[in-house]
Amino acid sequence: MLELRPNCQCCDKDLPPEATDARICSFECTFCADCVSSKLENVCPNCGGGFVPRPVRPAVEWREGLSRYKRPPSSKRVHMEYTVAELSSHIARIKGIAPEKR
Ligand SMILES: [Zn+2]
Ligand SMILES: [Zn+2]
Repeated sequence: MLELRPNCQCCDKDLPPEATDARICSFECTFCADCVSSKLENVCPNCGGGFVPRPVRPAVEWREGLSRYKRPPSSKRVHMEYTVAELSSHIARIKGIAPEKR
């Protein structure tokens, strides 16, 4: 089950489970769409992979036990260990590589 982390690890914007601008990498590193496009160039600062939109977790319990109330999101805010300036060389060496080869 996805952790549904509560914030953008770069700008700290709130990303609740219904957010449509949350983006995740395969390790669940979580960022907002704006940071992914304007600062990260679709390169995860932590693993170097790319991002996909995070699906919303439904508010309505369409199937037993599977709603955002029964399976609540994480409340632990996570922050990036790098500054955006520190990321430039990391991003530069990866961004031209096709996502499936990262
Ligand atoms: Zn952000
Ligand atoms: Zn990552």
